[in-house]
Amino acid sequence: MSWKCPQCGVEGLGDALTAHSIEAGGCGYSKFPAGVVLTSAAGGKELALRLPTMLGQSVLRTLDPVGSRFASAEQFRVDKSAARGGWVVHNVSHATNPTYLNGASIAAEGQVLKAGDSLSIKGKYLQLSIRLLD
Ligand SMILES: [Zn+2]
Repeated sequence: MSWKCPQCGVEGLGDALTAHSIEAGGCGYSKFPAGVVLTSAAGGKELALRLPTMLGQSVLRTLDPVGSRFASAEQFRVDKSAARGGWVVHNVSHATNPTYLNGASIAAEGQVLKAGDSLSIKGKYLQLSIRLLD
């Protein structure tokens, strides 16, 4: 399967590509995921985000009642970034326990979420896997 760039009409772009990037001779169009789905490793419950969202203990409790005890009222933030071509997770500096992405601290400027990434509290609690919506 391949796709056609909706911005300039070039066909045959590979499925692995999410952008018709200028660096690769394209027009700069970037496919933007419609949202992010968080899936809890504890029980498999899912939460779909289609808007920029601040997540905290009350929402996270629905995904993982045990792990969410380590979450603060405001734990991490997921924003849309057109400039970065995706959904960006930000640590909340006033959260008691830091949120980790793939087992490591989240960079200060936030990081773009990719399918298969995992979020957690300190790499131990509230393990959430990431899926992107088309
Ligand atoms: Zn294009």
